Amino acid sequence: MHEDLAHVLLDEETIRTGIDRLAAEVTEEFRGKDLTVVSVLKGSCVFASDLIRRIPIPLELAFVAASSYRDGTESGHLSLDFLPAGNEIQGRCLLLVDDILDTGRTMHRLKAEMLAMGAAEVRTCVFLDKPSRRALEFEADFRAFEVEDLFVVGYGLDFAGRYRNLPCVGVLRPEAQARVTAASSSAKV
Ligand code: 5GP
Ligand code: MG
Repeated sequence: MHEDLAHVLLDEETIRTGIDRLAAEVTEEFRGKDLTVVSVLKGSCVFASDLIRRIPIPLELAFVAASSYRDGTESGHLSLDFLPAGNEIQGRCLLLVDDILDTGRTMHRLKAEMLAMGAAEVRTCVFLDKPSRRALEFEADFRAFEVEDLFVVGYGLDFAGRYRNLPCVGVLRPEAQARVTAASSSAKV
């Protein structure tokens, strides 16, 4: 898979250092509170699992599935599935964790949804932030790295369902992107 990358933006060592710093910030913020980490599937599963293992305070884990990108790099309609049960949310301090903050629509919608379900407090935490792409006013409370306006894959982030298992973050070669697009459209016919 590495050979499909045109270049690497964040290598494993850089990612580790960024997550250590972020985990320390989150730990201080939530010490003494009833913390539930809500991982937004599928993209944040790699990030969330590395992050929680560096937060040495009691916490619970919940998941929500949000899909806004359909197969490619174009933003589509946002749908939410597997919302946590009311008792996982009500009265608790939530940390919503996503892979990347792009237009901001996913996190904005999820934060409103969690508050409506009775969360005492909702903070947001993203692995990557692309501030240049924001379509509405929204900033994450915690973020590991800022990236420029490039479509990136790896460390949980996919292109047409692939590359989530790359341990680094990079940009795909155009040939690889075309090959995966052709394979995924023929698979559906
Ligand atoms: P937003 O709602 O902020 O526009 O989009 C957030 C979602 O879009 C992310 O959770 C992610 O699934 C997808 N996304 C945005 N930018 C990228 C990107 O550069 N690479 C990948 N793989 N997904 C992205
Ligand atoms: Mg996602």
